[in-house]
Formats: sequence, structure tokens, C-alpha cells
Amino acid sequence: MPHDQAPMDLAGATSAELADRAAGLNAAYRNHSAFAVMSRALDDPSVGQVALVSSFGAESVVLLHMLSVMDRRRPVLFLETGMLFAETLDYQRDVADRLGLTDLRVIRPDQGAVAALDLDGTLNARDTDACCALRKVRPLEAALASFDAWITGRKRFQSGTRAALEFFEPDGSRLKINPLACWTPDDVRDYMDNNRLPRHPLVAKGFPSIGCAPCTTAVRPGEDPRAGRWRGKAKEECGIHFVNGRMVRGPAPKTDGTTTEKTVAKDLVTEEDAALAGGPADAAAATHLIARDDGFSAEDWHGPFDALADLGGAPSVAVDVPPDADPATLAARLDEARIIRVDFPSFSDGRGFTIARRLREMGYTGRLRARGVIADQYAMARRSGFDEVEVAADLAARQPEDQWLARARWRAHDYQARLRG
Ligand code: SF4
Repeated sequence: MPHDQAPMDLAGATSAELADRAAGLNAAYRNHSAFAVMSRALDDPSVGQVALVSSFGAESVVLLHMLSVMDRRRPVLFLETGMLFAETLDYQRDVADRLGLTDLRVIRPDQGAVAALDLDGTLNARDTDACCALRKVRPLEAALASFDAWITGRKRFQSGTRAALEFFEPDGSRLKINPLACWTPDDVRDYMDNNRLPRHPLVAKGFPSIGCAPCTTAVRPGEDPRAGRWRGKAKEECGIHFVNGRMVRGPAPKTDGTTTEKTVAKDLVTEEDAALAGGPADAAAATHLIARDDGFSAEDWHGPFDALADLGGAPSVAVDVPPDADPATLAARLDEARIIRVDFPSFSDGRGFTIARRLREMGYTGRLRARGVIADQYAMARRSGFDEVEVAADLAARQPEDQWLARARWRAHDYQARLRG
């Protein structure tokens, strides 16, 4: 921003104020070219601090090139979701290097959240909105916290949802700038040809729009350029947008109550299990199930668990361990204990995984059970040394057996390991 222009106070603007500001900017820049819109927006006090957000996809090089011509020191945010094509990562490095971009910021999802919610990298197959929220929306929201506006490469021709796209839009607590809103595919191609810009290598293989690898397929001749994105799913956008200062994550969930989820078979829990749990036989499903690699089964440990804090010097074959326990206090118990159950008070509390790893390192070879984790954490639990997970009946109703089984193939779904390999 030029030093002779005082910036407006943009922080805390209401959505109505942002809408007014966007309307004013659209009126002021109506007849400007994409280059002029972007160039002036970078220095317009009513726009504020601006970052370019780039996917380094099929057409990203246009805006990246424009920015490098205007000021290559401007911040460029690149969302590395952990699910991108290897070709995109190579292309990103090549383009940033060629254009001399000096403030490239690689934004990654929070690894703790990924470990808790998508350790095996299969969330995209079950819930694309949740996956985009985890890997794109939240990281970008955090990365944009210090900016008043962000530049995107969205264009009207790309889809019906973008048909009325303006140069400037209110987007939660900041502005979104779309310099290429009015460009056609020919404009994009001409710009790249005229400036001899490198193409993303997947474009030549039939990918006119490129996102994460699991959610992008090639497009057949005559198809919409974005037809390969989330093919077969009712989803067109990754959900990177904000409404009234709140993150919005794509289409609204179904409201008709329909579900494809399998219901829990009551006969997995026996009357004996119900009796052990102190409830009547017809309340068996209100106790719990045991999830293992082969699916749900009824409880088969019929003795009581002793609380670690109450043990004193007495021996115990079944021990309940709280999440704040020091595994070293169990050293004298490892030979006598046939089953150790570790509590997880919430799915975001990962201390139990550390306890399990330590117990295995200390030589415990007995049965190790987690209580309180969710299906998305099953792979993490198994990798940490747990044999099984105790699943409360209410959780089993929300996350039926097939959802746990999907994670039970945990060795085959280590997406990041495959990438590294
Ligand atoms: S595009 Fe697919 S893999 Fe990428 S964040 Fe969204 S759902 Fe996940």
C-alpha cells in the first residue's frame, strides 16, 4: 500500500459495510482490465492488506505471473492439503522459482486435527465437506486472519455457481477479489501463450481443473471443465468461503432423515453382557460393543475392571487407566494384567495414544483396549498398540459397524506413507 495513503480502518467491518465497500469497488473498477483490478486493489486503502491464494492448479499461473510483474514480494498462500497430486507439488516449486515469488507461504492442515479426524486419509470418501473443512477451510481461515482481502482465480465461465461473479465480493470479515471474473477460456490460454507460462503437467492428460488427487478425475471431451471435481457427488466448491464472519462448509446436510448407515445388530450384545452391565436384557444395546479389525463383537471380558488409583498392592488382571496416568506406575502390573483399558475423555484428547505406545515399549503383551475414541481414530489407536476399542452404544448408532470396518483396513490406507514411498 502506498505510504502516502492512509488505510481505512477495516478491522471489525460489519457484513453490510463490507457489502457496501464491495459494491463501491465494483462500480469504481467496472471497466478495468483484470490486470488493472488486481494492481490497483493491491494498493487501494479501502481494500487493505491483500494476499493471493493459489492452488497452483491448471490456470493459477496467470494470476501468479501478474503478481510477479506487479510485486513479487506480495504474500502468496498455497494450501498443501496433504492430498495434492505429486505433479502439483512439483509444479508449485517450479512456478514459484521461475516467477521469483519471495513470500510463498505453504499452508497445511493442523496435524493434530488430521491425526484425530482423518489419520488414514479416507475422510474424503465418507464426508467431503468435513474433509475440505479440515484440510482447506480451517487452515485458510487461520492463514487469512491477518489479511483484509484475498485474491482468487475464480471465473464466471467455470460453473453455474460462478455465473454472476463480480470483481469484489464480501466474504465474511474480509473482501474476496476475483480479477479474472470476466475472463473466458480463450483469454486464459492467450495470456499463458503470450507470456510463455508453464502448464500444469496434468492439463495435457485431461485435467482442466485440478484439486486434491482423491477428488479430481480427468474430463471427457465436451464435459464441463469442473466435471472432474468431486465427480458423482453433489458438490461444486470446496467450501472456502465465509458468511457473516462464520465459516461455511458447502451444501447443507440432508434434512429428510435419510441415511445409508447400517443399524447396529442388537444380537451382538448378549443378555449376559447386559446383566454384567447391570441393565435388563432388552437394554443390551445401551451398553457397548467392541470394535476390532473384523468389525463389531459383543463384550467378551466379563470380569470387573479395577481403577488404577485403587489398586494399592493388590494384584489385578483388568486395570482401568485414566488419561493422565504415568505409564511407569504400571510397570509392576504388566505381567499380571490380562487387559488394560485406557480412557479417552474426548476425541480431541490424545494422551491415551501415548500411554498405549509406552506400555507396548515397556513390554506389555496383554490385551489393550481404548475407550472413548471415535471411528476416525481407529487407525491411530491400532498404530499406537491398542488391540480393540470399546464403543458406547450411542456412538455405535451414529457410527455403525461399516464405518469402523472402513478404518479397520488401516494398514492399507496410509495415504501419506504412500506419498512418501
Ligand atoms: S478436495 Fe477432497 S481430499 Fe481435498 S480436502 Fe476436499 S474432500 Fe478432502
